[in-house]
Amino acid sequence: MKTFSSLDLLPSLQETLAEKGFVALTEIQMRALPALLEGRSIVGVAETGSGKTLAYALPVLHQLKSLENEGKPVSDLGRPRAVVVVPTRELGEQVTRVFKPFTHTTRLRVRNVLGGTGLDVARKNISAEFEVLVGTPGRLMKLLDSQFLDLSDVRILVFDEADQMLDQGFLPSALRIASACSSKPQMALFSATVSNKVQDLIKNLFSKAEVIRSEGSHQVVSGLTSKNLEVPHGKRFPLLEKLLSEKVEGGTIIFTNTREQCDKLAQEMKKSGYSSVVYRGEMDKVERRKNLQLFRDGKIPFLISTDLASRGLDVEHVGRVINYHLPQQMENYIHRVGRTARAGRKGLVINFVTERDEAFVAKLDTLRSRKASGARSAPSPDSSKEWPSEPAHKPPPPKIIPVGRPMARPGRKGAK
Ligand code: ADP
Ligand code: MG
Repeated sequence: MKTFSSLDLLPSLQETLAEKGFVALTEIQMRALPALLEGRSIVGVAETGSGKTLAYALPVLHQLKSLENEGKPVSDLGRPRAVVVVPTRELGEQVTRVFKPFTHTTRLRVRNVLGGTGLDVARKNISAEFEVLVGTPGRLMKLLDSQFLDLSDVRILVFDEADQMLDQGFLPSALRIASACSSKPQMALFSATVSNKVQDLIKNLFSKAEVIRSEGSHQVVSGLTSKNLEVPHGKRFPLLEKLLSEKVEGGTIIFTNTREQCDKLAQEMKKSGYSSVVYRGEMDKVERRKNLQLFRDGKIPFLISTDLASRGLDVEHVGRVINYHLPQQMENYIHRVGRTARAGRKGLVINFVTERDEAFVAKLDTLRSRKASGARSAPSPDSSKEWPSEPAHKPPPPKIIPVGRPMARPGRKGAK
């Protein structure tokens, strides 16, 4: 077991880690964090819930604070030294929340520019001096275009939840943001899966980066129990009702495959007197955020969602995931399941199964038996499919080439 206290992190960061009760590193943290601290560029692939955010947030804060300690504080307005690109507003808020407690002890400043808020708010957010910027691609592009944002002093550029970001067609924006940064910032990309689109981004920007794949942090997945329930013909909702009255600790996310199924279920639940909220694509963003907050705060115990919510969102208290409709793709299943049993906690997954799901259930069984036998790809079979583990099938072998450079650059604007 490797502990945070054994890392060469600034005392101000150690203090907050201790306060928050973080002791042991997860597997991806164990491997990605030291590499980033040393200034290397990396691609980190690890299942959802494995603690990827801290794996980059700590090195970012450590490096920027060290720079300040060397007598080189940020002195220009709207000119951050680290940028974290996230796919959605919700994730951006979540990432900002991870940074926040550390800013109290380090006195570094984190700002965000996220879709869904007015551009004037975003401009105001970045009108002062600050070190770290969390942003969605669209907002970052707009601010770059209008020259409100200057990325010429960026030392570290992070793409978080890259699979989801690229699913939304953000590859051109990602490239543009990278090219707006200083000549060669240290780069990090984190993703739960390596889809073809993620590989495109890797090819474009991370050809020299070190690739770190978590082999499955047992700490994270060991608390997960899963059950398959057969749906009696036409009795999907009655089956669900039985479960809803069971007591579980933490909230329940109920997944459907389409927006229509999502809304239909919400109506059925309402009729039967259960309070639930909906979280899906193509709904009013303000309402969606409000719904998530109600669920997050534990005010509403049931969140009905499509795969939109299965990616990246970290809600403290999800005790149970119900696949009311099983997904068609294993990748989506992995993401859904990753909403519970996060970082060592316990969680339950219940799959509603009909005859039509037989093939998928067979795949799940293979997954489970591989996990039981300790096979390395258990938590991410999707990515192992797209990116086989046999060296012969891999894209160019990962080389360990440090592309980061010393943080201090003499003669830079703003340097004392
Ligand atoms: P990912 O981005 O890999 O999906 P997150 O960064 O959102 O995962 O972290 C998932 C949860 O695990 C968060 O609630 C976080 O506070 C917690 N966590 C992260 N690192 C650790 C750790 N080393 N020990 C315990 N909990 C952790
Ligand atoms: Mg994440």
